[in-house]
Amino acid sequence: MTNITVIGTGYVGLVAAVGLADFGNRVIGADIRHDTIAALEQGRSPIFEAGIETYLKRNLDAGRLSFTADTAAAVRGADVVILAVGTPSKPDGSADLRCLEDAADTVADNARGPTVMVTKSTVPVGTNRRLQRRLAARAPNARIDVVSNPEFLREGRALQDFFHPDRTVIGTESERAREMMRSIYRSLNLISVPFVWCSLETAELAKYASNAFHAVGADIHTVAKTMGMDGRISGKFLHPGPGYGGSCFPKDTRALARTADSAGVDMDLIKSVIRGNTRQQQLVVRRITEMLGNLEGKTLAVLGLAFKSETDDIRESPSLGIIESLIRAGARVAAHDPQAAENFLQVCPGAEIAPTPYRAAEGADALLLLTDWNEYRSLDLRALADAMAGTIILDTRNLLDPQSAVDHGFIYRGHGRGSPPCAPEPEEYT
Ligand code: NAD
Repeated sequence: MTNITVIGTGYVGLVAAVGLADFGNRVIGADIRHDTIAALEQGRSPIFEAGIETYLKRNLDAGRLSFTADTAAAVRGADVVILAVGTPSKPDGSADLRCLEDAADTVADNARGPTVMVTKSTVPVGTNRRLQRRLAARAPNARIDVVSNPEFLREGRALQDFFHPDRTVIGTESERAREMMRSIYRSLNLISVPFVWCSLETAELAKYASNAFHAVGADIHTVAKTMGMDGRISGKFLHPGPGYGGSCFPKDTRALARTADSAGVDMDLIKSVIRGNTRQQQLVVRRITEMLGNLEGKTLAVLGLAFKSETDDIRESPSLGIIESLIRAGARVAAHDPQAAENFLQVCPGAEIAPTPYRAAEGADALLLLTDWNEYRSLDLRALADAMAGTIILDTRNLLDPQSAVDHGFIYRGHGRGSPPCAPEPEEYT
């Protein structure tokens, strides 16, 4: 039986405490509020949440659940400590992490054996890594592994969400912590709840995903997968790329914004989607310019002209805007597309079309991947490296394996993926 202490017995902490006890773990709920603890010890919930008192009483009676106001003592015997304290806004809008830091300090001062510290509170990206450093500085001899396990429950359906989550996200770099998390959530495994195993930052960002989707240092695919598992969203449309295009989205979003304007309604969300899409194309041009230093006289291989794979439609394709900008900046562009080359030439005669990706790459200083054609996923990197004059790949669709690209001597950048672990950064870009 694993000993778990949950610090903070509010909406999130109390649900986690009764839920984990119900899974068969031995759980102590700790809170600084004495009145809260007194009520809980008698089986009364200080919050209203459907069904919670049934679970509370059942697990108190079974001896698996107890409560205390002595957080330090509760940490001493714990294998796992879950932080579920509040992280409210400061006046400037940033998260106030003082309760969380206090709780982490209590863990540092009182952890005895190997301990896994799990952050359930919602925290900005980078917080768990800072907590890890804080623990190491405060308790250099303690063996405390940090886990980010953000909570997605909705009040009013909290127990249902705890016992049947769409997914469970666990960010950690410690194998021991992974084993421990697997063990305390074993019951979820048995009912096939998808587990997303990822880094601390990816887990944090998965929670903040909607408003921080393009932050660096996190893995966008794991974030997208996690968001997509939410029954209210969907994984089908969450893919990184150089922007949307085609014959529907761009015109329909513009039309919607215009219709709203003429009705006197300001559709800010739609307008910012449109602006964001244009910025996404400009970002590609800015990135490749930064990576190369400047574009004047450079040769660029561009793979992908259609706005998406499996079509020859180039209407409003991001490739159009991007290639026009590259040419305007003085670059020579050699492009390839399995289906859309002919259509593309009609609207952008300045680009040279190559019959294969490898011919497009001949003598290129850099290679850009813009459309998610399957055949680009299995490019022969050795052949590309031999054909190119330079070593830069900007993969806006994240089609290639970053490590494999680095192993073949490329300086590789994907979209929203951070840099591969050993990617040499070009001098101009450091
Ligand atoms: P809450 O205010 O209901 O509960 C927090 C509890 O922590 C309080 O009872 C408080 O007394 C206790 N506490 C604070 N500092 C403490 C300390 N040092 N030691 C012991 N106890 C301490 O908050 P909540 O709604 O449960 O939210 C907790 C976190 O979970 C927040 O970061 C929140 O953003 C996140 N979250 C909340 C929800 C939700 O629906 N409420 C959903 C997902 C995530």
